[in-house]
Amino acid sequence: MARPQAKAARPVPRRAARWIYAFGGGRTDGRAKMKDLLGGKGANLAEMSRLGLPVPPGFTISTDVCTHYYAHGRSYPQGLRAQVSEALRRIEKALGRRFGDPARPLLVSVRSGARASMPGMMDTILNLGLNDETVQGLVRESGNARFAYDSYRRFVQMYGDVVLGLKPETKDEEDPFEVALQEKKRTRGVTLDTELDAQALHELVEEFKALIRMRRNVAFPEDPHEQLWGAIGAVFGSWMNPRAITYRKLNGIPETWGTAVNVQAMVFGNMGTDSGTGVAFTRDPASGENRFYGEFLMNAQGEDVVAGTRTPEPIAALEEENPSAYAELVKIRRTLEQHYRDMMDIEFTIQQGALYMLQCRVGKRTAFAAIRIAVDMVREHVIGTDEALRRVEPDQLNQLLRPIFDLGETKKAFAEKRGVARGLNAGPGAATGRVVFNAEDAMARAAAGDPVILVRIETSPEDIGGMNAAQGILTARGGMTSHAALVARQMGKVCVAGCEALMIDYRAREMRIRDRTEVVREGDFISIDGTTGDVYLGQIPTTPSEVVRVLVERSLDPGKAPVYQLYAQLMKWADKMRRLRVRANADQPDQCANAVAFGAEGVGLCRTEHMFFGEGKIGPMRETILAATVAERRVALAKLLPLQRADFEGIFRVMGGRPVTIRTLDPPLHEFLPHDEAGQREVARELGIPYERVRERVESLHEFNPMLGFRGCRLGIVHPEITEMQARAVFEAAANVRRDGIAVEPEVMIPLVGHVKELVLQADIVRRVAAEVMHETGVRFRYLVGTMIEVPRGALTADQIARVAEFFSFGTNDLTQTTLGVSRDDAGRFLVPYVTDFEIYDRDPFQTIDEPGVGALMRIACEKGRATRPKMKLGICGEHGGDPTSVELCHQLGLDYVSCSPFRVPIARLAAARAALRA
Ligand code: PEP
Ligand code: MG
Repeated sequence: MARPQAKAARPVPRRAARWIYAFGGGRTDGRAKMKDLLGGKGANLAEMSRLGLPVPPGFTISTDVCTHYYAHGRSYPQGLRAQVSEALRRIEKALGRRFGDPARPLLVSVRSGARASMPGMMDTILNLGLNDETVQGLVRESGNARFAYDSYRRFVQMYGDVVLGLKPETKDEEDPFEVALQEKKRTRGVTLDTELDAQALHELVEEFKALIRMRRNVAFPEDPHEQLWGAIGAVFGSWMNPRAITYRKLNGIPETWGTAVNVQAMVFGNMGTDSGTGVAFTRDPASGENRFYGEFLMNAQGEDVVAGTRTPEPIAALEEENPSAYAELVKIRRTLEQHYRDMMDIEFTIQQGALYMLQCRVGKRTAFAAIRIAVDMVREHVIGTDEALRRVEPDQLNQLLRPIFDLGETKKAFAEKRGVARGLNAGPGAATGRVVFNAEDAMARAAAGDPVILVRIETSPEDIGGMNAAQGILTARGGMTSHAALVARQMGKVCVAGCEALMIDYRAREMRIRDRTEVVREGDFISIDGTTGDVYLGQIPTTPSEVVRVLVERSLDPGKAPVYQLYAQLMKWADKMRRLRVRANADQPDQCANAVAFGAEGVGLCRTEHMFFGEGKIGPMRETILAATVAERRVALAKLLPLQRADFEGIFRVMGGRPVTIRTLDPPLHEFLPHDEAGQREVARELGIPYERVRERVESLHEFNPMLGFRGCRLGIVHPEITEMQARAVFEAAANVRRDGIAVEPEVMIPLVGHVKELVLQADIVRRVAAEVMHETGVRFRYLVGTMIEVPRGALTADQIARVAEFFSFGTNDLTQTTLGVSRDDAGRFLVPYVTDFEIYDRDPFQTIDEPGVGALMRIACEKGRATRPKMKLGICGEHGGDPTSVELCHQLGLDYVSCSPFRVPIARLAAARAALRA
């Protein structure tokens, strides 16, 4: 075997000396776990061959070649050509055919295949090896001239589009091949492609070639080897096409992975009525139900099914069409599930009655399906509970918590004849929005804050940006495995596909619905139900999901809630596995109740300032701020005391003994005062003070960087009476609740501490007030005083701070802001391009903790804090507390708990379990 020469521009890894891996036809070099090198498609083709499944022979050009290709100015490594020739010879031998042989030509497909699946984003070429001579061989062998010329016509078109770049850049431009095809149909007086005879298709081949000559000034290559290298180059090239780049960004797939290229002997699903092609899932990818699920088209070629241009038949119908192929497929379904121990997505072709497997991969699924399959497979003893937890991405739980249409409202809509059509329930959930007919409009309207439903005849990969921006996606054509359905499911979008009653007119920007008179125009509201497939005119209010109704509203009996039961089972396993505790950030008793329903084990952050916005509280708060003297301020604070006390009591009662962390006042005071003259005059009138005094106070409080200004403990230090009032409210509430026999454990938390002396000043007040309240009420209760760690100095001097603080809670919102020197309020302008265009940060650091920076400070704080106080309680209450990646870091750092918004509590519980599993 030829080896690359040592003089390559950059050193190549030793392993890379081999560029090609064979599969099928008696020799298989790869296996499933070699995905990094072979891509998903190549690795699984190898694995299926090893399992003895009928895989047409072929070979995979490894992802190392892609890496080399881009690192060396789009050139191939030495030795590759020789290896490709050798691998081709092996296929030829296995099949008794030859590349370019007019008698028995070998035809191949050339397909991309990256480590992670990127459905439809890269290029594929089929029927490669056809030319004016070999097509005759195909005519003779198949006995079907129409089929042979149709294959040839498709090949020349694909080659022209993909390799020679004739495919239009935008959808508004016309594809010259399509124009020629339409013209041919017109002159022959037919409407369908399938009505064109062999002669017409033969003419088209010539016309296509002429088009190529005219547009590109090159001849269509008749030499199959030249065709092959052109196709390989195009597939590698497609790794960097704009839609692949967008898809990678949206899905966090690194550019460095590269794609592999699979070259495989062709089998034909379009050789006649005894041939066909299909895709299937070993279980239902929408509901997770354990039934064979899929669709097929007879007399069709591979891409016809996924492209969504014809609506296929359900897999069960294959039993009648071809019982032996169906039986074999059912057997393969079992073999694959047992081998991979997961739900698989397969592609197959039947050529003149014989079944071939073209692809298998772990199937994408909805959140519902993910949970159901995981739980079912544990019950079937296929996997253990650990594996079940690994199978559900924490963020998928979002889908279980998402709103659905109220049954009464949909009934009403049907009664009003607003239920106008039904398509396939391709992506569950309910969505309402304004109709748009293309991706650009979807993005523009969504950016302007409108909810939109993207309506397309069929979607193609170019629509991905619009799909991402839309609330929901509705298509007229295509099955459950069309691009629209696959991509929507992966994005967690609501999607109704293949709704054939829609008649869409892109140019007029409107659609009609079969048997109906209404015209739906761009901007009109429609509602779609991705769980049932129903489409409604107008807006339909949504209601909470089953899980929310059982847990939060208690309006649904758990016994009648199958989705809830799967959720509950999974959560039970998660809770058993996790070490981290999960709390919620909640400021009101009702929020706390939600949090407990979702499994929160305490309140990790009660932002007391949020209480001041409640009814009747903003007045006394403004009085406090506008007070001219300490005495005046004390009078105002005395009005706030009972209000805050009542709030705290409510929270303590709901939390019933679970720990509650209450933070003293944090935001800059100007936030509580109006900034316009009218508002200030209103405040002055309400409080009976001169307008000028209000205006002057607002001006004096003005800061250029309020987030770095007079806020946090700085307020309580300069105005100790505020901290004193808040501490009193907390402890009096605790005493009252304690008196009623309810356990309480308040944790008073001081924000924005950077110096131990700051904490000393505030903690002294809190502890003095606690002692006073215990003395006055005669009730004893336990409490802690701790601090947030949210400025770098606090983290760096955590050993000193820990002498006073009984707990730390990481305020990673501020810690990110202060560590990165990036304002949390208005960084979007550059932070978005920083992440998406320049890849400076892998993810938004305000969503996922920046581990090397912020994470490093957290590690220092944990180590120093526990060096001083070994049993120090450590938690996090920044927004990152509900982000699965950040939760994993918190686990690694040895935190005791994470705290997040109530609806993210289930996500954090699962993330914590998975972190424990990984550790
Ligand atoms: C934080 O900074 O992370 C935090 C929880 O506090 P806030 O968001 O209220 O500043
Ligand atoms: Mg903060």
